[in-house]
Amino acid sequence: MKKYIILMFFITIFSCKKEAKKNGKLQVVTTTTMITDLVKNIGGDKIDIQGLMGAGVDPHLYKASEGDVSKFFNADVIVYNGLHLEGKLEDVFEKMRQQNKQTIAASDALDTATLIGSEYFASNYDPHIWFSITNWEIITQYITDKLCELDAENAATYKLNGSNYLKTLASLKTVITAQVNSLPIEKRILVTAHDAFNYFGKEFQFNVVGLQGISTATEAGVKDVQRIAIFIEEKNVKAIFVESSVPKRTVEALQEAVKAKGKEVLIGGTLYSDALGSLGSAEATYVGMYKHNVKIIVSSLK
Ligand SMILES: [Zn+2]
Repeated sequence: MKKYIILMFFITIFSCKKEAKKNGKLQVVTTTTMITDLVKNIGGDKIDIQGLMGAGVDPHLYKASEGDVSKFFNADVIVYNGLHLEGKLEDVFEKMRQQNKQTIAASDALDTATLIGSEYFASNYDPHIWFSITNWEIITQYITDKLCELDAENAATYKLNGSNYLKTLASLKTVITAQVNSLPIEKRILVTAHDAFNYFGKEFQFNVVGLQGISTATEAGVKDVQRIAIFIEEKNVKAIFVESSVPKRTVEALQEAVKAKGKEVLIGGTLYSDALGSLGSAEATYVGMYKHNVKIIVSSLK
């Protein structure tokens, strides 16, 4: 009997492993489109990757379906943003860790001294870390190292892909810096649907004002709209922006409130904040998203 139990134990272990390592490739499940894009760039054809969230999906409100939980179970590793960006998945991540599932939080790569504080999140930090290209470089290196540890056989490929992607990010930073520098400091005021752009603001000296606060889980109040309308009038802000993963109505209400004061403010366009663009579009990658956002911001505020 004892022998039988031991045998069953090994069969179970073996079949689990076999399922997880199908095709001999590391099975990776990712959360946001930004994380999916980054891990794809590093993992290349050596990994099988499933991203849970698509274009236009708000990670603050995303709940795991039964299908997602089974994807987590079958993965070798789960890669997510962290700092409670995926607030409603935290319990699932914790359960997975209790089952000895490997999880990687991108935010663990960053020194907390470089993070922006926030009272809105249980982590006490603003989780929109990808909007600092410098952060994204540090996270690229961190995830590269983690994939090398988990799958030593393909470490050379991960290292090469990681270093190539770091070069891509360095040239992105050069392009973005030049564009931003064409906008005078006093015009660098970014009013958007929610406070996703604080790290962008810190990196490129923008004054960032979010209507809904830092998480989309709270609605903007009438007082907020009035307060920001006065700010727009005083600072003579030319344009405000909607976001792809947040309903337009709060930004439109703000535009109306400014109009009621006898002033015009344009809606400059749609920024990608907490999700990348649709598959196949230029904005479906981190680099494409960043270029799109900055082009719209700079041209609308000039
Ligand atoms: Zn957000």
